[in-house]
Amino acid sequence: MIVVGTMNLTRTAEKGDFVCPECRTWQNYRIRSRRPYLTIYFLPVVPVGGAQRVLQCLQCSQFWDERVLQRPDSHAAPNLPSEGEEESVFREQLMQAAVHLAIAEGEISEQMIASLLQIASERLGILLDRESLGEYCSIAFQNKIGIRNYLLSVDHTWSESQFRMAIQTLFLVASVEAGVSATEQEVLQSLKERGVISDEQFQQDIESLVN
Ligand SMILES: [Zn+2]
Repeated sequence: MIVVGTMNLTRTAEKGDFVCPECRTWQNYRIRSRRPYLTIYFLPVVPVGGAQRVLQCLQCSQFWDERVLQRPDSHAAPNLPSEGEEESVFREQLMQAAVHLAIAEGEISEQMIASLLQIASERLGILLDRESLGEYCSIAFQNKIGIRNYLLSVDHTWSESQFRMAIQTLFLVASVEAGVSATEQEVLQSLKERGVISDEQFQQDIESLVN
């Protein structure tokens, strides 16, 4: 009998410094790269998936998406209003955010899986089967970035309309299971603030979903 399994190999891919959104000062970071390997007799033989990269602040130990390095406060460039992320990149980011929000409580229900598949195809134009959604979820579980840090890493390139779409989509995810939790409210509020969305607009966008 041949003993076959999988193993994650992790290595430090890069080091540098950045303005950590949590520490709010320049800190050292490292980017860890993790790749799953097929093992035979517990020895890694072939990689069975792409490498997943995650950035960690060496001061506060929090995890971030490496796009956090492009936040306007991380370099000297003037803080220009964003013209918006390219639509396909934005939709992919929003899908990842939806998954991060869905697993924020540490587990995921059948009802949530069905809703995520529906949101992906109907709102984001991303066709997913259960298996690829499962892959999104396992990556999100493993990278430990969390919904709050994920959004802080990527949303600095979003336009106002992209912020509004993100708020609506994440509200739908948040309302799948009974009631929008305090954490979920915080996530939506922080998007409203960073996207500079007025109270009126915010309320109108949420109402249009409920009615
Ligand atoms: Zn930090």
